[in-house]
Amino acid sequence: MTMYHDYAGVIHIHSTYSDGLKKIPDIIQAANEAGCNYMILSDHDTLKGLSKEGWYNNTILLVGEEITIGEDEGHYLAMGFESEIAPHNRPQETIDEVKKQGGIGFIAHPYNKSYFDDFNITSVKWNDWNVIGFNGIEIWNYSHDWIDNFTPLNFLIGLSWPDNFIDGPLSKTLKKWDELLRYQKIIGIGSVDAHGYFYSYKKMFETLHTHLLLEKTLTFQSAFFKKDKSLVYEALKKGNCYLSYDYLANAAGFMYSAKNMQKEVIMGDELNIRTGVVLTISTPEPALLKVIKDGQIIAEKNNTKLLVKKINEPGAYRAEVYLKAFRGFNLKYRPWIFSNPIYIY
Ligand SMILES: [Zn+2]
Ligand SMILES: [Zn+2]
Repeated sequence: MTMYHDYAGVIHIHSTYSDGLKKIPDIIQAANEAGCNYMILSDHDTLKGLSKEGWYNNTILLVGEEITIGEDEGHYLAMGFESEIAPHNRPQETIDEVKKQGGIGFIAHPYNKSYFDDFNITSVKWNDWNVIGFNGIEIWNYSHDWIDNFTPLNFLIGLSWPDNFIDGPLSKTLKKWDELLRYQKIIGIGSVDAHGYFYSYKKMFETLHTHLLLEKTLTFQSAFFKKDKSLVYEALKKGNCYLSYDYLANAAGFMYSAKNMQKEVIMGDELNIRTGVVLTISTPEPALLKVIKDGQIIAEKNNTKLLVKKINEPGAYRAEVYLKAFRGFNLKYRPWIFSNPIYIY
């Protein structure tokens, strides 16, 4: 099998260009210290940081925009384009504009936790699912996961032990992802949505990463910034990536691949079923491994680093991994890795 290089980074970050606490140099330093290979800044309705793009030690800084839809009817997390896109337009117009400029777009925090959903207290959720042409959705938004568990009584716990408030992707979001995957390719990403308030950028950058799998290596050199930038965006666009809650354990080394008689591919890729396909999940730590298709678990194995499953029908097959770890005082299987699907046709 082709060798892939695993680069972990953070997506969806706010600076003082919108409602974040710190300026770009401080934030990029935090990303350096947290060991992130890339960081995608996305301030609300502005592309101001774009001129700051580049390599900063071992972190490549890329700049996108979190575009407000209508009067706050959703947020579209877009990147890989050069001229700022105006907010407050219809969702389809916004998606089309990103596409026209050759960018990539993700529906940000599509849902809230049910309690907040009912009262619409915290976050903006996505309202229009009739849209087409977006690249993907945020499967797991770390800040929303954290904040949505706050009540007036528990906020000190939440600030002191944020991990106690982390649940993983919302089941509604995963359900929607599986629904969408029946008809099209939809990339799943993990995002931190970091603002720096009450939770330092550095600490948050050590939590939820989106790992990119590249066939080529990044150069880490300013002279080749443009080439490296396109490699990062290419991997995101193809879905050659997985998200993982690395606070529990570093997921680097995780692989999800599929093989037929002719070739072997990885997450985000397509493969022909004709001669039969074998899916393989491998993890760096023993865990609970699952293969999901159409919202159903079609294979599951406990306390293992390897799951192999032969399949006979087309569809989008994705992998989930749960790691036995403490959440507060409870030892249980916690959401750890969510892989992009392999598309079998
Ligand atoms: Zn948002
Ligand atoms: Zn945001």
